[in-house]
Amino acid sequence: MHGLAKPLSAHKPTSPSRLIPLCVPEIRGNEWRYLKECLDTGWVSTVGAFVERFEQSLAERLGARYAVATASGTSALHVALLVAGVQPGDEVLVSTLSFIAPANAIRYLGAWPVFVDAEPTTWQMDADQVVSFVERECRWQDGALWNRTTGRRVRAVLPVHILGHPVDLAPILDVAQRYELPVIEDATESLGARYRGTPVGRFGRLACFSFNGNKLLTTGGGGMIVTDDDQLAQRARHLTTQAKADALEYIHDEIGFNYRLTNIQAALGVAQIEQLDDYIAAKRQIAATYAAELRDLPGITLMPEASWAESVYWMYTVLIDDAQFGMDSRQLLRELSRRNIQTRPLWQPLHQSPAHPGMLTLGGSVAERLYRDALSLPCSVGLTREDQETVIAALGELAERGGSAR
Ligand SMILES: *Cc1c(COP(=O)(O)O)cnc(C)c1O
Repeated sequence: MHGLAKPLSAHKPTSPSRLIPLCVPEIRGNEWRYLKECLDTGWVSTVGAFVERFEQSLAERLGARYAVATASGTSALHVALLVAGVQPGDEVLVSTLSFIAPANAIRYLGAWPVFVDAEPTTWQMDADQVVSFVERECRWQDGALWNRTTGRRVRAVLPVHILGHPVDLAPILDVAQRYELPVIEDATESLGARYRGTPVGRFGRLACFSFNGNKLLTTGGGGMIVTDDDQLAQRARHLTTQAKADALEYIHDEIGFNYRLTNIQAALGVAQIEQLDDYIAAKRQIAATYAAELRDLPGITLMPEASWAESVYWMYTVLIDDAQFGMDSRQLLRELSRRNIQTRPLWQPLHQSPAHPGMLTLGGSVAERLYRDALSLPCSVGLTREDQETVIAALGELAERGGSAR
């Protein structure tokens, strides 16, 4: 399962056609060494030193008390929502412009997503929509928040920090605190990003990360739940390990999940996280180069970075204005593909997804426009300057061609 693209590592080293892939993992540190250690010692499964080391490294990196490794970002979200108290029939506010995983996780629990539009300047969850929904469309009764229209209990807020950039959290945290709503951050795409100086994943009661193939750090597949709450951390750990209640006997005290990360995967994670600062620096350099060189092309809107944000530019994305650029984002995708340059659209907004029909949605038109116009450009950590220049030159050429057709 991938946010945007299959990792095309198979194409990377020797493809004769020299595809410039969208975003592939970077393996250049201690990955082989740590993997070999797993294989040599036989510690390959869900118990082993690397799992704990990976958890500790991420917790330390973020300044969090607890980190619980999981088999995927999706399973992290599932368990985070569960331990946050989301019940069947509840409603959870979630970004509509997002990879589908958080909405699916809400449905796994029998709860309902309330989709929140994107905000036009940052493309992130629109905090004002969250605040006005809670204040105007809900009522506070018997120590709980209820949606006046549906009569359902509103149980949590799940902001998704998309593409490497944080959501404007302050208004969401404020309203959530006033109405006792836990905030669960989906920080899967934005590890290392900062909101007003503090790393994302430090604001919600719980936060989730993913280490899928195309994320900033990869373990092949994997995830993490981060929290400062010892009871939530303990419960999450328990549920991800089949809720086994006895060290020896197979006694399980509730219905748990096989959601633990393996030692092999964690070994990769430990090696990857050692390189996180280098990866972020590379992503920010790639973004700076695109920004400097695409700035003057007509009809391209560069990826935003709010004044209060430090983005990690996980997936460098631009908007294409078809009238000014001379072709729309999908035509451009096809033209670039013809030149062996892989690009991707963003996700279909979740309120339009056939997987989530008829869900309550706050706004939606901004996400629809972003979906129509957005195109993610090659931005692997290991993207060479030469390959990036090839992408930039192709964009320049196509803009000119589009321009001459105007
Ligand atoms: C990648 C991603 C996930 C899910 O992570 P997996 O590890 O693939 O399960 C969840 N939410 C968002 C926003 C993502 O991009």
